[in-house]
Amino acid sequence: MKSYFLILLLSFPFLQLSAQDMQREEARPLASPPAGRLDVTYIANSGFMLSSGTTHVLIDALYFDADIWETPSRKILKDIIKGAPPFKNISHMLVSHYHADHFDAPLVSRFLVNNPQSMLITNQQTDSVLQRVYKMDQQLNRPDQIKITSAPMFGSEIYESGQLKVTSLVQRHMGKEDYNVESLGFLIEIGGKKILHIGDADYTDENFAGFNLQNEHIDIAFVHYWFLLDCEGRRILETYIKPDKIVLMHVPFDELRRNYQRIKEYYPDVVVFLNHMEKKIF
Ligand SMILES: [Zn+2]
Repeated sequence: MKSYFLILLLSFPFLQLSAQDMQREEARPLASPPAGRLDVTYIANSGFMLSSGTTHVLIDALYFDADIWETPSRKILKDIIKGAPPFKNISHMLVSHYHADHFDAPLVSRFLVNNPQSMLITNQQTDSVLQRVYKMDQQLNRPDQIKITSAPMFGSEIYESGQLKVTSLVQRHMGKEDYNVESLGFLIEIGGKKILHIGDADYTDENFAGFNLQNEHIDIAFVHYWFLLDCEGRRILETYIKPDKIVLMHVPFDELRRNYQRIKEYYPDVVVFLNHMEKKIF
C-alpha cells in the first residue's frame, strides 16, 4: 500500500508544487459572483463547484482514477490543486466518501497544503485514507484544515462559517458490497439558497426519513443517476426531498449524452450538465 501511494506522488509532477511556488504567483483580484446569486460549475461525475460572493465550495471534485466514470482533466486537477482561476480562494472542500470516483487522498492533501484558507469537510472513513498519506509524508498533515463529522449513522452535524452553513447527513452508501461505506449527504445553505448533494446515498427510508428535508424547501437537489432511474428512488425523492430543481449527477461516461433522456421522461425539467466546466447560474 505504501509503495502505491509513493508511485502516485511521484507520478504527478504537479503534486510537487510547493507553498513557495504558490506565493510567487501574482495576487490578482478575484472575479466573484455577487451574493444572492449562485454559480454552479460542473467538474466531473458528482463533482461541482458552488460559488456565491466570496464563498467557493468544491464537492467531490478532486480525484483522477475513476474507471468508467467521468474524470476531471489533468489541467483541471492541476488548477484546483494550485488554486488557479477559476479555483482561486476555494473556501471549502466537501467530500462525501472515500471512493476513487469522488476523492483522491494525495491530491486532496496537496490541495490543502497549497490552499491554507480552505477547509475540508468529510467523515472519519475518508480521513483514515488521508492518514495513510500522512504516514508517507508528515508535512502534508493539516489537522486545522479538516472538519471530521462525528455523528453516527443517520445522524447529522452542522458546520457554519460566514455566509455558509453545511449540514452533513450521515447516510449509507448504495449497493450490498458497499453496505459499510458511509456516504455524507450535504445540505448546503449558500447565496440564499438551499442545496442538497446526496453523494452515493442509497434510496431507502432509513437514509432519508430522519432529516425532515421535505420541510426544508430545498432549491436544488444533486441526485445520482440510479436514484432517478429506480421507482423506489423516485418515491424517496418525492416523499423526503421534494426539491424545486433536480441536477442529475454520476451519469456513466458512455450514457451521459444518451440515457439521461430516460430520466427526462419522469422529470422533464431535470438539469443536466453535459460538459466539464460548464457553468449555470441559479
Ligand atoms: Zn461510492
